[in-house]
Amino acid sequence: MSGNEEMIELLFSHGYVDERVAEAMRKVPRELFIPEEYGRSAYADTPLPIGLGQTISAPSIVAFMSKSLDVQEGMKVLEIGSGSGYQAAILAELAGNSGVVYTVERIPQLIQLAKTNVEKLSLTNVKFVEGDGTKGYAQESPYDRIIVTAASPSIPQPLVDQLKEGGKLLIPVGSRMFQDLQLVVKVGKEVEISNLMPVVFVPLIGEFGYK
Ligand code: SAM
Repeated sequence: MSGNEEMIELLFSHGYVDERVAEAMRKVPRELFIPEEYGRSAYADTPLPIGLGQTISAPSIVAFMSKSLDVQEGMKVLEIGSGSGYQAAILAELAGNSGVVYTVERIPQLIQLAKTNVEKLSLTNVKFVEGDGTKGYAQESPYDRIIVTAASPSIPQPLVDQLKEGGKLLIPVGSRMFQDLQLVVKVGKEVEISNLMPVVFVPLIGEFGYK
């Protein structure tokens, strides 16, 4: 059994993934998104450095967020915080060829890294955007799903504005040290918020995030 398959089976037995997310993760080997020096830890359930003080999240977090976001074929998805490109690639598998993932990253070298990593797979439905993701990406809004993979002091209003009616947004909200992973569902002009689990993410830095 490969390291990826072993990791997925473990995530499945702990309830972090369902069949669809497991299938998407099978097509996206995590080792392709890890710097060479950490290759041996590619399938350990731990975040790993990707350079410039940033990290690729632990597999269990990526798995749980992918499952909770509930991405269906054909959906338009916005990710804030491209990092290594790993989460974006899994979302792209879930959205399928009729769907699309826009991923926004503020650090130019990382958007390049994410692009290079995603190009190792045959995905054509990931679009890379450099900029401050706290403002969302209005050009392509509204989105069926939005996922933020960095910690925010509050829910940035532009992201709520760019979400479709009935759409879902996942975001870690809290201090720079600890956050709650919040699921936000847009119902009319209101939002329903639920706390899914405690998490620890690097900060979301920008106009509607940390300064
Ligand atoms: N999703 C990534 C992956 O699969 O590897 C991991 C993301 S890492 C935990 C958080 C990322 O958010 C970092 O790459 C960081 O530069 C980025 N980030 C922080 N603030 C941002 C902002 N305002 N807009 C876009 N990206 C931001």
